Amino acid sequence: MKTLQELTRPTIWRLKPYSSARDEYNGAAASVFLDANENPYNLPHNRYPDPMQRDLKKELSKIKKVNLDNIFLGNGSDEAIDLVFRAFCEPRIDNVVAIDPTYGMYQVCAEVNDVEYRKVLLDENYQFTADKLLAAADEHTKLIFLCSPNNPTGNDLLRSEIEKLIQNFEGLVVLDEAYNDFSEAPSFLEELDKYPNLIVFQTFSKAWGCAAIRLGMAFASSDIIGIFSKIKYPYNVNELTQKQAMEMLQRYEEIERWIKMLKEARESLEAEFAQLPCTVKIFPSDANFFLARVTDAVKIYSYLVSKGIIVRNRNSVSLCGNCLRVTVGTAEENEKLIEALKLYK
Ligand SMILES: *Cc1c(COP(=O)(O)O)cnc(C)c1O
Repeated sequence: MKTLQELTRPTIWRLKPYSSARDEYNGAAASVFLDANENPYNLPHNRYPDPMQRDLKKELSKIKKVNLDNIFLGNGSDEAIDLVFRAFCEPRIDNVVAIDPTYGMYQVCAEVNDVEYRKVLLDENYQFTADKLLAAADEHTKLIFLCSPNNPTGNDLLRSEIEKLIQNFEGLVVLDEAYNDFSEAPSFLEELDKYPNLIVFQTFSKAWGCAAIRLGMAFASSDIIGIFSKIKYPYNVNELTQKQAMEMLQRYEEIERWIKMLKEARESLEAEFAQLPCTVKIFPSDANFFLARVTDAVKIYSYLVSKGIIVRNRNSVSLCGNCLRVTVGTAEENEKLIEALKLYK
């Protein structure tokens, strides 16, 4: 791996972060707060939230078995995705490499930040090889993006290839584990100490059932987390989100039950979907959704919309011609989908 200084944009490396009122007073016991120009009324929403989300990170660190200073929390994973570009990629000079197809936000953030985005096509089983990704990289490649289980294909990427890539790439590997809770594959969080060039993304939006609160997590070396913390908005995770996340962390066992239920529901939904006349193929999934090739994705998508049922049409995505991506819902929702499709002609 190159040094973190070599991988970081010089302007970011030199940056002295904005120091907020609540940063300077760092949580020591106090009862009179006259430092942040807040209104003293309208409790409890009158106060700025903890900029470093210490209480929340403490609870998360127990569940994820990761040290506090290896955790970054953001306004959805979207914030973390944007931050890696802003931290490491010099616009018009650096580039990133990513598997294709994958989650669309990596490319959008690359374009917003004026950074070249190099796509490397997966094979027919939606797998990649480390060698192909490395061949697409050059001395200006700062990041390689992987997503496992991948979206929209649903499958886990091969662990041996992920490891090979991390070991052989000079830059940083960003591994998006948004759907790892649904997979049998262990999270790479366990390997964080072994790989200083690994950044793992997870989110409260899927298994945790909290898409509305906008809370994403990035896990990496304390040096990388330090850079994210330096350039983030001071109060990037609001108080209501921090509170709700704390509450969800107390309900950990309930979340485990949801995950088990959704995995079982996926299997029965896949089995029923496979029987439909309009189904051509169902791709193996390790997530809470699956990708299916159908006879005519555009027509079937519109037909379902007319019945008030929305799935994701992935027809125009690489290697996903005539494919629909179907999220596993409640038993009732899944039933409505199947009943509607049985009637499709
Ligand atoms: C849904 C999803 C996310 C979650 O993004 P948030 O901003 O945390 O809601 C991240 N990565 C992938 C691949 C996803 O599909």
